This record gives sequence, C-alpha cells and structure tokens, in this order.
Amino acid sequence: MTDIVNLIHKAGESSCLTAEELTKILKDNTFNDVLFETADNVRQKNVGDEVHLRGLIEFSNICRCNCFYCGLRKDNRSVQRYRMRAEEIIALAQTAREFGYKTVVLQSGEDAFFDIDTICRIIKSIKELGLALTLSIGEKSYKEYEAYKHAGADRYLLRIETTDKRLYKKLHPSMSYENRKRCLNDLKSLGYEVGTGCLVGLPQQSDESLAQDILFFKELNADMVGLGPFIPCPDTPLQNTAAGTLIKALKVMALTRLLLPDINIPATTAMETLQENGRLIALKSGANVVMPDVTSEDCKQKYTIYPGKAGLNNTALDYKNTIVKNIESIGRTISTGYGFRKK
Ligand code: SAH
Ligand code: SF4
Repeated sequence: MTDIVNLIHKAGESSCLTAEELTKILKDNTFNDVLFETADNVRQKNVGDEVHLRGLIEFSNICRCNCFYCGLRKDNRSVQRYRMRAEEIIALAQTAREFGYKTVVLQSGEDAFFDIDTICRIIKSIKELGLALTLSIGEKSYKEYEAYKHAGADRYLLRIETTDKRLYKKLHPSMSYENRKRCLNDLKSLGYEVGTGCLVGLPQQSDESLAQDILFFKELNADMVGLGPFIPCPDTPLQNTAAGTLIKALKVMALTRLLLPDINIPATTAMETLQENGRLIALKSGANVVMPDVTSEDCKQKYTIYPGKAGLNNTALDYKNTIVKNIESIGRTISTGYGFRKK
C-alpha cells in the first residue's frame, strides 16, 4: 500500500494528521476514493445512518460587510434588499416544524436593524414551538451572544472562512481575523454548539492553508463544520475568478470527518450547486446533515450569496420531498431527534 493510503487509514483510526500529512493528501488525487470511503465509514461508526434536516430561514439580505466573495456585500447595488418582520420569521419556523424539521437555522447578512431585544423575542417564540435553534447572523459582542443564549438559542454558525491571515485581510475589508476568532471563542465559552467552516477554492488559497483550516476546526473542537466551494458571484470583486471545485471541497470535508469523527457535517447547498447530486455525494463522503431552505419564494430569490443556488426554483415543500426521497434512496434515514452532538 502506498504512503497516502496508509495515512488515510491511520487517520481513520487515530483521528490525527499533521499539517504536512493533510497537505500531502490534499495534493494527491490518486486515492480520493479511499479517502471518501474511509470518511463514510467513520461517519457511520460515530454518528450512524441518520441524516438531520435543519430548516434554513434567510430572514434578511441586508449586510453592513463587504466580503469580496459574497453577493450580499454592502457595495452590491444590484441586490433588491429585504428584511422579514418578526412575525414572518416565526411563521416560517412553524412551517419548518410542520415539515418535521427539528431545528431551524436563522441566517442573515449583518443587519443592524435586528437589535438584542428583537432577536431575543424571535428566539423565545421559536423555542416555544419546541424546535432547536441555530443562529447564523455574524459577528456580535459577547453581551449579545450571551443574551441570545439566555433567550434559548442552542447553536451558532460562523465560518472562519480562511485561516490564511493575509488572504482573510484581503477578502474582508474593515473586518479582522482576530475578532472572528474572538467570536468563536466567546460562543464556545457560552456553551453554544459551535459551527464553523471555510470556503474552498478562494483565489490564492493554498493546500497548506486548507490543511491549517482543518487543524483549526480540530483545535476549536467545533461541533459542526460546513464547507462550501467558492462560487464566483456577479457584481462582486471576485466575479471573474475561477470557482472552487467540488472534489476539493469534498476532500476538505472528508478529512474533517476523519479528524472530528463525532461532529455534525452538512452536505452544503454550494456543493449541490456546483454539481447535480453533489449533496448526495457529500452524504456518502462523510456528511450527515442537510439544510433545506424554507425561506419564502420571493425572498429566497433575493438571497443571492452566489448565483444559481440549487433548489431556487422549487417550493419549500417540493424541495423537502425531493431531499427526503434522495436521502432514502442511498439507504439513509431521516432523523427524528434534534441532532445535537453526542458528547
Ligand atoms: N452573514 C453571515 C451569514 C450569511 S453568509 C456570515 O457571514 O457569517 C453565509 C456563508 O455564505 C458565509 O459564511 C460564506 O462562507 C458563504 N458564502 C458567501 N459568499 C459565497 C460564495 N460566493 N460562494 C460560496 N459560499 C459563499
Ligand atoms: Fe455579509 Fe455574510 Fe455575505 Fe460577508 S458573507 S457580505 S457578512 S452576508
């Protein structure tokens, strides 16, 4: 057996790889099948065959940030901006519950309109529905994260995006890597289940830096890791840049599964957008979560983080039915639990 295959098998048993070893596997494409199969086995052994569905509500596309890759960045004048009322958000959470989803994820741009009181009111109403609640609303102060936690929020998603500090600085004007890390540490110390992740295939991103991203997830002891291939978006500074590849995103995902065997890993919409069935391939390569969109039709069309998002032309109900059918077609089951990380 070759060196790479040995490394993959070793990681499947020990959950350990060094930066050099991760880089070596990322650079070699001869044994991708072995990597995906090993990650699939580790997934089955540690988190089983259940797939957790989390209903995604994209409640505002207004953002004060200017991330170079994102279609919702402040300077993009071609976006029709919207902001849902609290009642609309809660109604969508009810829809998610009717679909049988046990978690809702509230996601938005960094929209300052939603102050602590408003967010806490929404959290409390959703918690009364008996749902688990994930927030994905960006960088906030410790005080704000604390208030959301006390109001009942269970989880928080905040991708580090890249651990390459030079690249981070370039792509995030007036934001700082240190503050992003501070947010993740605050969330951990407040007892949230913390989700992070990165974009794969950003311009000038090296395999060495992707290896560091994976080690960062491990060091943080992330409870969830979401990886997405970068997809260039019109009217952004990166509009003419090459997209990331599905294979590389899957490899980063599979390696993350090897190093963090018991966490939740979504098969992301960006993977499905790059390739039909990308999500199913991800579920067979280490993933155990899907986040179907429950955002209303008109808003969903305007939540243009990147173009051509999978599922854009389906109603939330069609989307759910298709996803459930696809998941069952590969011999997996839909979870009826909340899907917290088993500690
Ligand atoms: N504003 C919040 C949540 C919304 S953005 C935040 O930034 O945390 C959610 C995720 O979309 C980001 O973390 C980023 O990784 C991803 N994203 C943004 N632009 C993208 C693009 N062009 N291609 C793929 N993913 C993108
Ligand atoms: Fe705003 Fe998030 Fe997009 Fe950055 S990635 S511009 S914070 S919505």
